[in-house]
Amino acid sequence: MTLAEDLVNTYNIVRNIEKMPEVDGLSALFERHGMPLDAPLTETDLAAAHRLRPVFREVFAAPDEGAAVTLLNRILAEHHAVPHYTDHDGAWHLHVAAPDAAPVDRYAADAAMALLTVVTTAGTDRLHVCVGNRCAEVFVDVSRNQSRRYCSPLICGNRASAAAHRARRKKAAAVPGS
Ligand SMILES: [Zn+2]
Ligand SMILES: [Zn+2]
Repeated sequence: MTLAEDLVNTYNIVRNIEKMPEVDGLSALFERHGMPLDAPLTETDLAAAHRLRPVFREVFAAPDEGAAVTLLNRILAEHHAVPHYTDHDGAWHLHVAAPDAAPVDRYAADAAMALLTVVTTAGTDRLHVCVGNRCAEVFVDVSRNQSRRYCSPLICGNRASAAAHRARRKKAAAVPGS
């Protein structure tokens, strides 16, 4: 899962469920994405991460490529992205966040770059908000035929087909003689 998805989905906007109430949850996010931390994260970092979620959610709901790119460019600027090359691991490569960037600024810059790559090479058709009942999790559809409508075919997809099945049965039962 991309950095942006993982962050945005720590809050369920429909059911108002906070899944990252503690600093630990944010540290786990950094760990999961192999992003080293020089110092333990703080409540300030957590608050910054929480503020970042609706910003990225807007990108997933952007009406077109231009709108998505504008939002992502703004995220890069607001989080002080400073593209520069480094050979800290032995080979020259590009870093987007400033070397002394705060952890959440680094997360924001890397997350924005990853989504910019998707949007500018594959378009916004790849960015989705799940249509599953009371879900609204965001996801990047990397399937070949871009047919995904649910964050998880196993969870929301199954729930939806079960609901459709129940609705059909109910309708059939309501028709006399059927
Ligand atoms: Zn590096
Ligand atoms: Zn879903």
